[in-house]
Amino acid sequence: MDKKINFVIENWKKRNIDGLYCADRNKAREKIREIIPKNVTVGISGSQTLDALGIVPALEAAGVKVFNQYQPGISRGESLELRKQGAQADYYLASPNAIAESGELIFFSAYGNRITGISNAANVIVIAGTNKICPSLQEALKRAREYATPLNCKRLNWNTPCFKDGVCRKDVCLFPEYKRMCCQVLIVEAEVSPSRLKVILVGEELGF
Ligand code: SF4
Repeated sequence: MDKKINFVIENWKKRNIDGLYCADRNKAREKIREIIPKNVTVGISGSQTLDALGIVPALEAAGVKVFNQYQPGISRGESLELRKQGAQADYYLASPNAIAESGELIFFSAYGNRITGISNAANVIVIAGTNKICPSLQEALKRAREYATPLNCKRLNWNTPCFKDGVCRKDVCLFPEYKRMCCQVLIVEAEVSPSRLKVILVGEELGF
């Protein structure tokens, strides 16, 4: 494990966050399967990282009930209901937009369901590639806003100023002209309940 990863994990320890390292996505998927018991419920947030791990089908195959708001063929109302249930599940899975080396985790959100899930679920597992680690909290916020969100707007075809050229213009990114994606920002600085929040760092580039 390199020095930077060790440094972040040590900083999480001081913040009551359990940090784990997995060399690649397959090991990370196995680790999540080990942590999550059968007969529990799991909520998820939309994430390229979770998709890359293939974690939802792996959990479903193991008999875990996943509140999957992205399953094909469901209505908008059903999807919203699954988001609500997911945010109160036994376990919640999410990936941050950025991580500061000092340990803070950054999540930007449009609808807020992942912010609710991270705050409310009995157990939270955050998964991130090492590409999301930034040298400082300021750099992490900048990454989330100026790099990750424009790419998410592009991916999801959102009408925002950053959609076309990748440049954030938050002062004019307002309704009704635009549908802003950065509506809520969560900075996790620490966790009060022991073992509730785990972060799995994966030693490869995942998501953005
Ligand atoms: S504030 Fe608007 S323009 Fe800036 S990154 Fe967020 S969605 Fe894009």
